Amino acid sequence: MLQIQKIYKKYVTGDLEQTALDGVSLNLRDNEFVAILGPSGSGKTTLLNVIGGLDRYDSGDLIINGISTKKYKDRDWDSYRNHTIGFVFQSYNLIPHQTVLSNVELALTISGISKSERKRRATEALEKVGLGKQLHKKPNQMSGGQMQRVAIARALVNDPEILLADEPTGALDSETSIQVMDLLKEVAKDRLVVMVTHNPELAEQYANRIVRVKDGHIIDDSNPYEVDTKNMAPPKHENMGKASMSLLTSLSLSFNNLKTKKGRTLLTSFAGSIGIIGIALILSLSNGVNTYIDNIQKETMTSYPISIEAETIDLSSIMSSGGPAAGQTNDANHDLDAIYSNGSGLEMASTMTSSFTENNLTAFKKYLDNPDSEINKYVGENGIIYSYDTKFGVYTKDPDGTFVNTDGSTLTDKNSSISTMMGMSNMSPMSKMSGLPGMTSSSNNFSELLSGKDGESVSEAVKESYDLLYGSWPTAYDEIILVLDSNNEISSNTLYQLGILPSSEYKELINKIENGEEIKIESKSWNYEDICNKEFYMIPECDTYIANGDGTFKSIKEDTAEMEKLMNNAIKLKITGVVRPQEDAKNASISTALGYTRALTNYIIQYTDDSEVVKAQKENPTINVLNGMEFSPSTDDEKIADAKKYLGSLGVSDKASLFKTMMYSMQTTNDGMSNMDNPSIQAGTPDISTMSEEQLAAMLDEYLKSPDNDTLLKIYDAYISTGTYDDNMTTFGVVSLDAPSSINIYTDSFENKESISDCIEDYNSTASEEDQISYTDYIGILLSSVTTIINVISYVLIAFVAVSLVVSSIMIGIITFISVMERTKEIGILRAIGASKHNISQVFNAETFIIGLCSGLLGVGISLLLLIPINSIIHSLLGMDTVNASLPISSAIILIILSMIFTIIGGFIPSKKAAKKDPVTALRTE
Ligand code: ADP
Ligand code: MG
Repeated sequence: MLQIQKIYKKYVTGDLEQTALDGVSLNLRDNEFVAILGPSGSGKTTLLNVIGGLDRYDSGDLIINGISTKKYKDRDWDSYRNHTIGFVFQSYNLIPHQTVLSNVELALTISGISKSERKRRATEALEKVGLGKQLHKKPNQMSGGQMQRVAIARALVNDPEILLADEPTGALDSETSIQVMDLLKEVAKDRLVVMVTHNPELAEQYANRIVRVKDGHIIDDSNPYEVDTKNMAPPKHENMGKASMSLLTSLSLSFNNLKTKKGRTLLTSFAGSIGIIGIALILSLSNGVNTYIDNIQKETMTSYPISIEAETIDLSSIMSSGGPAAGQTNDANHDLDAIYSNGSGLEMASTMTSSFTENNLTAFKKYLDNPDSEINKYVGENGIIYSYDTKFGVYTKDPDGTFVNTDGSTLTDKNSSISTMMGMSNMSPMSKMSGLPGMTSSSNNFSELLSGKDGESVSEAVKESYDLLYGSWPTAYDEIILVLDSNNEISSNTLYQLGILPSSEYKELINKIENGEEIKIESKSWNYEDICNKEFYMIPECDTYIANGDGTFKSIKEDTAEMEKLMNNAIKLKITGVVRPQEDAKNASISTALGYTRALTNYIIQYTDDSEVVKAQKENPTINVLNGMEFSPSTDDEKIADAKKYLGSLGVSDKASLFKTMMYSMQTTNDGMSNMDNPSIQAGTPDISTMSEEQLAAMLDEYLKSPDNDTLLKIYDAYISTGTYDDNMTTFGVVSLDAPSSINIYTDSFENKESISDCIEDYNSTASEEDQISYTDYIGILLSSVTTIINVISYVLIAFVAVSLVVSSIMIGIITFISVMERTKEIGILRAIGASKHNISQVFNAETFIIGLCSGLLGVGISLLLLIPINSIIHSLLGMDTVNASLPISSAIILIILSMIFTIIGGFIPSKKAAKKDPVTALRTE
C-alpha cells in the first residue's frame, strides 16, 4: 500500500519557479491498475517519478507499507527502486549496445544475483512478454512495440510490487498499443500498476481506476481509497538494506558491456594508447641511445682505465704548463721592440723533472682493498687490475736449432746500430705510460692479458674485440695466445725474435742492410696448427742465478750453454689459440705477439719466492749473495772506509781492470771524475790500450796516492757499491703482491670515472705527503666535455618522456571523460532500475580500468611493432646497428599500469559526476 500525503514539488530553473506537484494526496491499493490522465505539463511524470523514488518530493510524505520515506537515504531509495519498483518509459530507455537479454538481466545484476539465476529469470520474463525467441537481438533490431515489451520484461524481472509506466504507448501505433496494454493489464492482476497516459480511451478501457491531474492537483479520482488511519500504526522509519553489486560483478558487467561494442572500445583504447605509444617510443629511443652511450663509455673505459704507475710522469701538469711547444706558441707579453729572453725551455725542463713522481701503491692498494672505501662503488665490470713487474725470459730454438732469446737479444751483436734501431725498442713510451697491464720488463713479445672479473683468465672485453681463428683462449699459467694483425700477419722482425724464422737468415739480412744492399723479404705463411706446435721455454729471472757453492750466486744469463741447460728443464709455454683483432674492435689492447694470463704472473711470483737465490738472500739479509759483500752502508764514513778497504785488497790485475774501466767511463762521459785535477789521468793522454797490467796498476796507485773523501765516495758509488737488499730482490724478480707496479681502475661510465678521480683526491687529502697518488687522467684530458654532453642528452630525453607523459595522461583523461559523458542516459537508466551512485561509479571505473588496460597493452604492442621499422630507419641513417631502440620490460609494465591509472583518474571525475546526476535529468538527455 502506498500513501502519498500532501506532496509538493517545485522546479527552479533560473528565475523561473515551476510548481509540478501542488499538495498531491493519493492512496494506492496493493493491487490495482491506476491510470493517471491529464494534459501535458500537468505533473503526471513528476508524480510517477516521486512514487518511484526517482525524484525527491520537497515536502509531504510517501508512506510505503506503513513506512515513511521522510528519512530515506540515497541507498534506501536505490534499494526501493531496485526491489519494489519497475519502470516503463515512453521512450523504452533500453541500453542500445546490449542484447535484449542483458538489458533485462541488468536489474538483477545490480542486486547481485548470480549469473545463471539472472539468465533464468530474465529469459522467463522475456517469455512472459512473448519475446522468448529474441533474447540475443539488439534493441535497434526490434520494433517499438517489441522494445516496449522488453522494457516491461525488464521492469518485471525483479518481480516488483509496483510497476510504473510513463505513457508506455505514447510512441506506439494503436495496434501495438493494444498489445502493450493487454500485457500491462495482465501484469496488474497481481500487483499495483500506475500508468500515466493522455489517452482517455485506453485509460477507460484497461484501467480500473482513473486519476485526473491538472496543474499539479488531483482533480478527479474514479475509485478513491480511504485508508483507515485510526486503526493503523503510525508510519515508522526502517532501512531497506542495500542493492549490492560486487566488484567482480561490475568488472564482468563492464567487460561484457565492452565486448558488445568492440569497435568502440578498440577506438577508445586506441585514442588512449596514442599517448602511451608516444612515451613508449621515446622511452625506447632513449633506452637505445643510453645503452649505446653506456656501451661506448664502457668500451672507452676498458681501453682507458685510470692508470696509476709506481713511477709516473704527471703528463697533465706538463700539458697545462703549455706543452713542449710552449716556447714557440706562447704569446709574448712584451713589445716587439728589443731583445727579450725566453725562459720557457728551462721552465719546461723544471716541470718535466718535478713531474716525475713515485707513488706508494702499497698504501693505495690497502685503501682499495678495504671494502668500506667509497671508491669501490664506482669500479666497473672489469674491476681493478694490479700489475706486477714479474721478471722472466722466454727462450726457444729456431728452425736451425739455434738458441734464441725471444727478446731479440740473441739475434744481433750488442753494438750493431741496426739492433738499436729495430731491436727491442718497440715498446713505445706512450704504451708504457698508459700502463696497459702486462707491460712487464721481461720481454716485449709477451704481455699479460687483461683478466676478467670473478677469476676469468681473459676479460670478456678483450675476447669480444678479437676473432678466435684457431684453438681457444689460454686459461692455465703455461698457456699463451698468438695475436695476429688485422691482415693475419706477424712482422718478420717478431718472427725472427720468436725463432720462427732462423736467426742465421736474420744476421745475413742485417749484414746486407749494413752494406747498403737492398733487400726483398719474401712472404711466408704457416698454418695455425704448425705455429701452435712451436715450443717456448719460460725461465724466471731467479733461475738465471746459480749457486757458486760458497754461498754466493752468479748470473748465467750471458752463458748460452748454461741457459740452454736451463731451457731443457724450463716450463713449456703452449700456444693454445690464434686471434685477430676485429675490424671495429674497441678493446684490441694486446700490444704484443703473444699474450699470457694472470695465472703465469702468479705462478712466477710464487716460484720466485721459493727459488734458491731468493731464499739464500732472505736468510742473509745483510750480505749480498751476488758478491758475498755486505750491503751498502748508509753513512759516507763507512762508505769511505769500505772503499779504502776494497782498494787495498785489490791485486795487480784487478787494479789494472779497475783503472781501465775508469778510463773508459771518462772517455764516454763528460762528467764523472772530470773534476779531478790530476793531469796524468786526463782522458786520452796515455794510451792505456798499449800499457801492461803492472803499468796500469801503478797508474792507479799513483792516482790514489792521497785520495780525498770525495774521490773515494765517487769510486765507491761507481765501482764498489753493492746496492741494497731490496735492489737484489728486485734483480731476482721478487714481487710482493702488496706492491703492484701499476694499478688500473676500470669504470663503466665517465661519470663513475669522475667519482673515482674525486675519491682519489679525497684519499690524497687524508694521506701523508709521501703516500699521495698522482696519475695522468688521459681520458679526462681527451674527453672532459663528453660527460657534459651525455648528461645533456639524458636530460633532454627525460624531458621528452616527461612531456609526453603529461600530454598522454591529459589525452587519456579527456577521452575517458567524453566516453563517460556521452553515456549519461545509460546512467539514468541504471539509476532508474535501482543502481546506486556507488554502483554507477563502480561500473564506470571498472570500465575505464579495462579500457586503460587495453590502451596500455595496445600502446605497448603498437610501439613494439613500430620499433621494427624505426630501428631499421635508425640503422640506415646512422650506417651502423649499434643504436637499438628497445622498450625494457619493466618500462612496458610501468606504462600499462600508468595507462590504467590515468584512465581511471580520467574516468573517475566524470563517472562521479555522472553518478551524482539527477537520474530524472540523466534520463532526459538524448
Ligand atoms: P507531464 O508529465 O504531465 O507532462 P511533468 O511532470 O513532466 O508534466 O512536468 C510538470 C511541470 O514541471 C511542467 O511544467 C514542467 O515544465 C516542469 N518540470 C518537469 N521537470 C522539470 C525539470 N527537471 N526542471 C524544470 N521544470 C520541470
Ligand atoms: Mg510526462
